Amino acid sequence: MELLKQRILQEGVVLSDQVLKLDALLNHQVDPMLTMEMGREFAGRFADAGVTRVVTVESSGIAVAFATAYEMKVPLVFARRKKTLLADPDALCERVPSFTKGIVTDIMLSRQFISADDKVLFIDDIIANGDAARGLIKIIQRSGAELVGLGVVVEKSFQAGARTIREQGIRLESLVRIMSLSEGTIVFDE
Ligand code: 5GP
Repeated sequence: MELLKQRILQEGVVLSDQVLKLDALLNHQVDPMLTMEMGREFAGRFADAGVTRVVTVESSGIAVAFATAYEMKVPLVFARRKKTLLADPDALCERVPSFTKGIVTDIMLSRQFISADDKVLFIDDIIANGDAARGLIKIIQRSGAELVGLGVVVEKSFQAGARTIREQGIRLESLVRIMSLSEGTIVFDE
């Protein structure tokens, strides 16, 4: 997605050779027009997959997952990051390490909002080592729903997450692939 590459070059901040700060686009501020474009792109790529629900993990995946669900005219369900007193005792839970925060969090999704009849499209913001994605994939699989694929806005292809998920036979589509952040420079994988 050329427009997204331009915006990342203009507004992304390389924090290290591993981490790209995208607060201006994804993780703090959201541009609704750009986000709706991303949603249209994912909806187009998975148009024939018979998707019945879009799922994501709070919080940074929610905007683009909403845009995708809006285009596909299906509900969006977001996994929540920790159990609350109001949590469904029947919820599906996984413990996942957080790449940026260096902590472990529990994600949960209520069985009320996902079932074996569903065809699920999982949308997320950034994939690095893939721990967050693997956690939600396990939850989707335990629900009995069919995972039709994973759409990520930014794939950092120099980290192992996307590759290992594709090796599991899961369709993973990314809007941009970044092959290097070395020496403060963003290099896209064409
Ligand atoms: P993973 O579990 O794939 O290692 O990391 C996924 C999550 O960590 C993403 O959803 C994202 O929120 C965060 N993350 C990973 N790498 C980056 C990065 O380079 N920049 C930012 N802003 N977040 C990242």
